[in-house]
Amino acid sequence: METVAPFKEVIEEIKEAGGEAFRYCFQCGLCDTVCPWNRVRQFSIRKIIRQATFGLTEIESEDIWRCTTCGRCPQRCPRGVKQIEVGVSLRRVASNYEVFPPSVRSARTARASLISEGNPLQFDRKKRADWANDLSVKTFAEGMEALYFVGCYLSYDPRMKKVAIATANILKKAGVDFGILGSRESCCGESIRKTGSEEVFKSLAKENIKTFIDNGVKKIIVSSPHCYHTFKNEYPEFMVNFEVVYISQYLSELIHAGRLEITKEYAKKVTYHDPCYLGRHNDIYEEPRDVLKMIPSLELVEMADSRKDSLCCGGGGGRIWMDTPKGERFSDIRLEQAHEVGAQVLVTSCPYCITNFEESRLNLEYGDVLEIKDITEIIQEVI
Ligand code: SF4
Ligand code: SF4
Repeated sequence: METVAPFKEVIEEIKEAGGEAFRYCFQCGLCDTVCPWNRVRQFSIRKIIRQATFGLTEIESEDIWRCTTCGRCPQRCPRGVKQIEVGVSLRRVASNYEVFPPSVRSARTARASLISEGNPLQFDRKKRADWANDLSVKTFAEGMEALYFVGCYLSYDPRMKKVAIATANILKKAGVDFGILGSRESCCGESIRKTGSEEVFKSLAKENIKTFIDNGVKKIIVSSPHCYHTFKNEYPEFMVNFEVVYISQYLSELIHAGRLEITKEYAKKVTYHDPCYLGRHNDIYEEPRDVLKMIPSLELVEMADSRKDSLCCGGGGGRIWMDTPKGERFSDIRLEQAHEVGAQVLVTSCPYCITNFEESRLNLEYGDVLEIKDITEIIQEVI
């Protein structure tokens, strides 16, 4: 019996937007069993795939905006349905028609800010390097060892600026000849792409690629798994390949090469959270743990849901710009898991994770119970 497709035009539109893998789905439901949404509310990516198959997608519904692109369900799917790509294609269709439900409208504000200022946070492009004002960080010039690509949150967000400062201090201490691009740096574009704004992504990517080439950039150090992912796996779509190094990998390299020496103890119980775009999307699980294990007196404990099963913080896929009501925040669960294993410090290596964890720390009143740190903030204390 042939499947009847009542809304052929919609199906074609979804396919054109890159979501054609939906046709492999045989509705086993394994994806829903691992999706973090089902820990906090009812949500079915299986149903979204089903609706797309028949052209019955409700583009005005909040549900097509829920997926955080955490990467758990594609790992489990026996049919190779690319749920993230299908989800993004639906958002592309919704964005093309400018259909945004109320909780998603802030993503539209982020998009406007990316177009005008090169960052999603509505800050002035000219102030992008202000975090480094007192640090005598050099401007990147051809021939330097590496470009430090700071990223939007580390450039502007008051909490995350501390991580940019820690990183610059570490690189200086290790004698790395590095520079930054300042106002010539634009958002990497990873998250806006996942909200369906493909043209904005392309324009940001082209801008960055031109700046890298014009300035003779070869090696790029990054602090955000989202920058890492897009430079490494998505910018090659534009026929370019730069050497991209994640800061925790680079820390490990610097320590092993004897360029960075750990001289102090860190006598705390620490647990490490694997960011989705570092772990599941790029297989970087060990280097951050290796670096932490090299610190004397630091006791590393593992939480539930670690490594490839890591619980998403809730900030991927553009969700960092959207409102998630209390009771539905994955980051609250993550903090409880860290607390359950007796950790005093929850360490990670991603601006979205830290932003969400700091908010949960406030909401759960964990101020005296748990510290949230980026790995560079710990290293800065022990060198
Ligand atoms: S796991 Fe794959 S095949 Fe099974 S319902 Fe989900 S998308 Fe379909
Ligand atoms: S990628 Fe993650 S958040 Fe998105 S549907 Fe799959 S499991 Fe759920």
